[in-house]
Amino acid sequence: RIINFGSLNIDKVYQVEQFVRPGQTITAKDYAVAAGGKGLNQSLAAARAGAEVLHAGAIGAEGRFMADLLRESGADTSLLREMDGPSGHAVIEINAAGQNRIIVFGGANRSMTSEYIERVLDIAQPDDWVLLQNEVNLVPEIICRAHEKGLRVVFNPSPMPENLDALPLACVSLFMVNEIEAAQLAGTDANADFEDTLTALRAKYPNASVVMTVGADGVLYDGEEGRFQLPAFKVKAVDTTAAGDTFCGYFLAAVSAGKSVQTALQEASAASALAVSRTGAAPSVPTAGEVREFLRR
Ligand code: ADP
Repeated sequence: RIINFGSLNIDKVYQVEQFVRPGQTITAKDYAVAAGGKGLNQSLAAARAGAEVLHAGAIGAEGRFMADLLRESGADTSLLREMDGPSGHAVIEINAAGQNRIIVFGGANRSMTSEYIERVLDIAQPDDWVLLQNEVNLVPEIICRAHEKGLRVVFNPSPMPENLDALPLACVSLFMVNEIEAAQLAGTDANADFEDTLTALRAKYPNASVVMTVGADGVLYDGEEGRFQLPAFKVKAVDTTAAGDTFCGYFLAAVSAGKSVQTALQEASAASALAVSRTGAAPSVPTAGEVREFLRR
């Protein structure tokens, strides 16, 4: 099972001609609301992949549709809390050129407490995987407590923490990173060769395996099962939102089901190729059936 201490965000997307300027009031041409947040996207991907997923986190009343979405995809939301304040949300402006400007408000995502973390970890089984990103509060405590309980900790350090030294990264079993996060974690030049960045990151955290996604260039892995590199599937990229989250969810679903890392990388690459060929975040995450179909083509 995957226990995800994950963020849930309501994405409020406004289509505008030009970004609003200081002192100005403008009318949006279109508006859409969607479920998002790295945590939710990753739980959704893992659940659609067929994994048993328990999503730990919190929403406000306006975020109930996100809990429904998780449940419909098969994730367990029995420990999800509903708080009095606002749900985590993002106000997204998209201009005519397709550029975006985003304000994120953590809201209920920032309401983790020590008691809640214990309550969730108390029901964990020894072979569960604890997954987290960097959009909730108390990240260091979640990592430490899960590690102390002997659980495998999977950390997707996104968005990148400001103070890496404050994090108990030696307690992480698996890093899920893109090339920028990998370079920052490893302390290497952002323009370094992918392979060198991966080597440096492994050297810094020898107890952790690393999955490093590199966009249209595919993915690299170095860890317990060896070192592999896989190119991305060729697709027409329409919207790369949630590509990394889809990869993360599908990869974990596969390895937690006992599949080899190579198989997991392949399934996750196929799933995220499908996600980039569709618009949106949560709606673009494919089902296991769609991924199987894609791999048969
Ligand atoms: P993030 O969004 O976290 O930066 P990446 O951009 O590295 O993540 O993408 C994650 C995965 O999604 C890649 O490893 C690849 O498998 C897939 N992917 C991303 N962009 C493309 C693309 N243009 N074509 C095919 N697959 C892609």
